[in-house]
Amino acid sequence: MKVVLLGAPGSGKGTQAVNISEWYKIPHISTGDIFRSNIKNGTELGKKAKEYIDKGLLVPDEVTIDIVSDRLKQSDCEKGFILDGFPRTVYQAEKLDEILNEMGATLDVVLNIEVPDSEIITRMGGRRVCTKCGMSYHVVFNPPAEGNVCKNCGEVVIQREDDREETVLQRLSTYHKQTEPLIEYYEKDNKLVTVEGQDNIDDTTSCVKKALGGM
Ligand code: AMP
Repeated sequence: MKVVLLGAPGSGKGTQAVNISEWYKIPHISTGDIFRSNIKNGTELGKKAKEYIDKGLLVPDEVTIDIVSDRLKQSDCEKGFILDGFPRTVYQAEKLDEILNEMGATLDVVLNIEVPDSEIITRMGGRRVCTKCGMSYHVVFNPPAEGNVCKNCGEVVIQREDDREETVLQRLSTYHKQTEPLIEYYEKDNKLVTVEGQDNIDDTTSCVKKALGGM
């Protein structure tokens, strides 16, 4: 199963990508996670990416495309993968088509999770993430354990720099300008399936399951 997941920042893409990766036993490739891990480890790539991420802007294509191209060529991607956060521009989508062509592969489905901007702003303002395992929380809807620690690994839970309000507004604007045109791009291919992101994560998971054919 070869899947691309589309959706605005805060639409719940990451959570659903983890589900899909478990259901189909396929690797979850998140460009955002790759950048964050490089930032944490202080690599050159991390330093470069941070300049853009902290401003709510996209990391330049020439950096991002090579990372994905290298990752997709690894053997664990032969039976499938779920791309979360890539492509984010029409140019990246065209490059992805080229990479897949070279691999003799095609996408099975592009899943688009739709959530209104007003909802995203509420969600992201309250979003917290674990500094160790990356588990996501929300201060109201899905709070971490007592003392602001992760229920999964016990590490401290924080607000991501790019989840601050001004950055969220910039990320939304970047999404509408640069990423939303991908909906039309994949509609033309007849690959697009849209689900409405629900307030409750389990309800969204059910919609995603149904959209992918029941699982
Ligand atoms: P995410 O966790 O997917 O929301 O990604 C966090 C940030 O990483 C984004 O706001 C971008 O700055 C950067 N990023 C992630 N994926 C891409 C991509 N495909 N192209 C450019 N920048 C990206």
